[in-house]
Amino acid sequence: MMPQPVREILQRLQQAGYEACAVGGCVRDTLLGRTPEDWDLTTSARPEQVMALFPGHSIPTGLQHGTVTVRRGGASFEVTTFRTDGVYSDHRHPDTVRFSDSLEEDLCRRDFTVGAMAMEADGRIIDLFGGREDLARRQIRCVGSPERRFSEDALRIMRGLRFASVLGFAVEKETREAMRSCAPMLRSIAAERLRVEMTKLLTGPDASRVLLEAPEIFGVFLPEILPAVGFPQRNRYHCFDVWEHTARAVGAAPPDPVVRWTLLFHDLGKPDCFTEDAQGEAHFHGHAERSGILAAEAMRRLKFDNDSRDAILRLVERHDREIVPGRRSVRRCLNVLGPQGMEQLLSVKRADILAQAAAYRSRLDELDEVKRIADGLIASEACFSLGQLAVNGRDMMELGLQGPAVGEMLRCLLDQVLEERLPNEKDILLAWAAKNVK
Ligand code: ATP
Ligand code: MG
Repeated sequence: MMPQPVREILQRLQQAGYEACAVGGCVRDTLLGRTPEDWDLTTSARPEQVMALFPGHSIPTGLQHGTVTVRRGGASFEVTTFRTDGVYSDHRHPDTVRFSDSLEEDLCRRDFTVGAMAMEADGRIIDLFGGREDLARRQIRCVGSPERRFSEDALRIMRGLRFASVLGFAVEKETREAMRSCAPMLRSIAAERLRVEMTKLLTGPDASRVLLEAPEIFGVFLPEILPAVGFPQRNRYHCFDVWEHTARAVGAAPPDPVVRWTLLFHDLGKPDCFTEDAQGEAHFHGHAERSGILAAEAMRRLKFDNDSRDAILRLVERHDREIVPGRRSVRRCLNVLGPQGMEQLLSVKRADILAQAAAYRSRLDELDEVKRIADGLIASEACFSLGQLAVNGRDMMELGLQGPAVGEMLRCLLDQVLEERLPNEKDILLAWAAKNVK
């Protein structure tokens, strides 16, 4: 259902003699019975005419594209003048944008039929390209010639695959073929844009299927995945090749971007680390470190922020290390990763197991035990970091320590606590420190 403020904005524009409707993702989501994240509106009114109709409630956010943000009912809505796009010479941006008086022209420039429908204030749907039929068939199809649309703006290839993953849709045949033939044009797309689309794709409910269907497209900007495709893993744990295992592991994890990117990377080092023993069993010693190196390079190219990159690398490097289900080793893990990183590591390990041979599922029980211990430690506010230690730097200085010796002693104390050789109690820690001052 169209929210009241949206209807009011559309009615105000119509009463002033302009055409106006909601358009794009919000129409698609409404027809799918989903709640749209935001409502984009389009109108024949020029930006200054929109501004004049909503004095004091409109901000010229993107005038060169014809966009005015209108505030109403405590929310903001983007109102964009009907447009047509000129020639695209860089596979990404139109060289010129021209305002138009025709809704039809505006709908023509949109990439996929399911996102090229409009809805009027009274709920009437304007669907010029069979968008409703494609929604019913659950498929992504380009408006117009797919080759032309992807050649204009290659990012649309990734948008299409992202919608396929997020909506659980198939990609229509001609659109799919053009995605493949135009994939090399993705090289001209800014790394940030590719990363944003890939993150949305990876966190979609159907990521696993989409990854399996189109590795060579992702390989244009993530060549690290290509050696994994079809690379066999002949050993007792695995029933899939490296890429299929990877795709299944991504799909088996909660939709946390850090966890899903970690799973995308976690085994990519395997082809480089492959050895075979006398019995013909495959081994991949050192693959977690190798995957970390490949992941670091890929994330550098895709311009990840430092925090996400570091979190993902820590998880990739640890994904294969055993966590003994005991208090001390879990405390050590919490010390390195923190509660959130620990939770993420357990999600990674669980998804990794779920994407392996079913005979080894019993290892999930061990993870449950680790989780139970970690939750218990966190709930009882057990100490696993310097900040939680019952003594601080000032206490050490009062014992006569100075300079780097202060930090060193605190780390020694934390070590004693992590190993559960000392309780986290001030008097006891101070006495131990006093005895061990050099
Ligand atoms: P969501 O907001 O759920 O991600 P959406 O379909 O609303 O999906 P947006 O990126 O918000 O996608 O764009 C709004 C609309 O603008 C789209 O539905 C589409 O019609 C059009 N659009 C956006 N980007 C492009 C593009 N690169 N090429 C053509 N049309 C586009
Ligand atoms: Mg949108």
